[in-house]
Amino acid sequence: MSYQPNSTEARDIAYQLHSYTNARKLEAEGSLVIERGEGIYVFDNNGKRYIEGMAGLWSVAVGFGEKRLIEAATRQMAKLPYYHTFTQKTHGPSVDLAEKLIAMAPVPMSKAYFTSSGSEANDTVVKLVRYRSNALGQPEKKKIISRFKGYHGVTLASASLTGLPNNHRSFDLPMPGILHTTCPHHRAGAVPGESELEFSKRCAKDLEDLILSEGPETIAAFIGEPVMGAGGVIVPPTGYWQAIQAVLKKYDILLIADEVICGFGRTGEMFGSTKYGIEPDIMTLSKQLSSSYLPISAVLINDRVYQPIAEESANIGTFGHGYTASGHPVAAAVALENLAIIEERDLVGNAHRLSPRFLARLRALEAHPLAVEARGVGLIGALEVYHAAFADEPGVLGAMINRAMHERGLIGRNMGDAMAFCPPLVITQAQIDEMFDIAEASLDAVH
Ligand code: PLP
Repeated sequence: MSYQPNSTEARDIAYQLHSYTNARKLEAEGSLVIERGEGIYVFDNNGKRYIEGMAGLWSVAVGFGEKRLIEAATRQMAKLPYYHTFTQKTHGPSVDLAEKLIAMAPVPMSKAYFTSSGSEANDTVVKLVRYRSNALGQPEKKKIISRFKGYHGVTLASASLTGLPNNHRSFDLPMPGILHTTCPHHRAGAVPGESELEFSKRCAKDLEDLILSEGPETIAAFIGEPVMGAGGVIVPPTGYWQAIQAVLKKYDILLIADEVICGFGRTGEMFGSTKYGIEPDIMTLSKQLSSSYLPISAVLINDRVYQPIAEESANIGTFGHGYTASGHPVAAAVALENLAIIEERDLVGNAHRLSPRFLARLRALEAHPLAVEARGVGLIGALEVYHAAFADEPGVLGAMINRAMHERGLIGRNMGDAMAFCPPLVITQAQIDEMFDIAEASLDAVH
């Protein structure tokens, strides 16, 4: 496709390397230019309107164009646009946000540590776990177990935690000390006749076998998303988290809940941990924390984690970790206002109330000849698609349906052949119907 010289599309091709993109395909075809947003909708540079069926990247909880967040950023920008939290300095917005997150946490937490992305938060966790084990005089206890198809980010450590081939291939990852265990996808992983509960117990047994084969004294932590997102929206089978937590307790292994997608209402509860009875020692938060209006993320740690770290920092003389933007005052002020909106407008309640409609419309698509499985919880779900013609080319059918949705005014996201839906939490019932009407028409068009 050729674009006008100097157009945004042409200059994008000329100057920008894009995330998660086939660069040669982009050079040939260009990108969709999004110009502005309003509520659940975004508009491209030709004025065409799209439902943002993924809330950006699972993140814009309060919708686009929220004036209160613009005003909160402006106020803080005028008062103190930047300060840091190194070496016994602090500022009001980071303190207020830390206090707020500790108060909201589903289990007792001691401290919040701020970062700017989900990847940085999980990367920080890997370092905290190592630092703590050294502080406890257990230098051999450093390995972290994650799951195949888990998604935890893209830094060297967080990409290693991620259990998806594209995040490892050609990057020489995963790095040593990160292990992966069974993905809890019942339909794909269960043997014929195996119930969800039996499958969950088998996942826990696989975990225990891995711990025993590595040596329990070498395993420091286990990380998981309450509901797997980027791996294809995989909802845990019945009894999964209970079975996993029993194994972790038995071998004194820390539990890290990656709430980067689930946090702040996505599952119809404030946290995915609340939804599934997870009692984490460490939580990572981002995305809906600020509705991604500004980049910010947080690591919450309980006292079991904090105390040895504090002790080690006294022994060494410092906790030698920190980002220039840790607790950035404008990002923190926006996050605080965003959390106030989520609470005042009861957006978690909205997700809970609209979930039956969302899931009913999603599950109705399962009857389509291209559909294999619909799965979801709260306001997050996926439809897995399949056609024999593309059996050897995973993702091709998903991409075709995604294109058909774009043409009809819906931005979705295909993770391979899993079509994800994760709209802003401000969505209404009529808008849910509008979204799935387009999805249905797109499936028909491709079939
Ligand atoms: N953890 C989870 C569960 C995620 O879904 C993501 C991003 O999608 C990340 C971590 C990484 O976050 P970021 O892209 O902000 O680095």
